[in-house]
Amino acid sequence: MPEYAVLSATPLCPRCGCEILDAENTLRFQWGALPKGYEMGEKIVWSKGLLSRRRWTVGDPKFEDVVIIESDVNIRVWSCGKCGTMLDRPCIEVRKGKIVQVLMFEAGAFEAGTGYQQQTANCFEIGSSGNLVPRPEFDVE
Ligand SMILES: [Zn+2]
Repeated sequence: MPEYAVLSATPLCPRCGCEILDAENTLRFQWGALPKGYEMGEKIVWSKGLLSRRRWTVGDPKFEDVVIIESDVNIRVWSCGKCGTMLDRPCIEVRKGKIVQVLMFEAGAFEAGTGYQQQTANCFEIGSSGNLVPRPEFDVE
């Protein structure tokens, strides 16, 4: 099993506003030191030096403004349990190294808005004009 950073958060359906409970109020992603638990607003933690086989780091702390795609292998499809809307994977927005919000999109809206499929990369750098730049070099095998 891959290691994750785990954010306590309950994403909301972009169509009906209902809470999406598929992930049981936790979003799993791979950025920074793993494993690690976070609350909204917390700074991403980085490890230095030698890491064991059970603790490791994904990404680069120089990238402070990023969108990280949720990547729990146990959730293949996201949808709203109330209205049935199919969803893109949750997007965890990090600004100045802090987790600021979770963005939810109806299926296909991420690609329509950014020009990239979510599978392009786990990490998208937020450019100076708010555009997203895929950083597939940080993907975990
Ligand atoms: Zn809904």
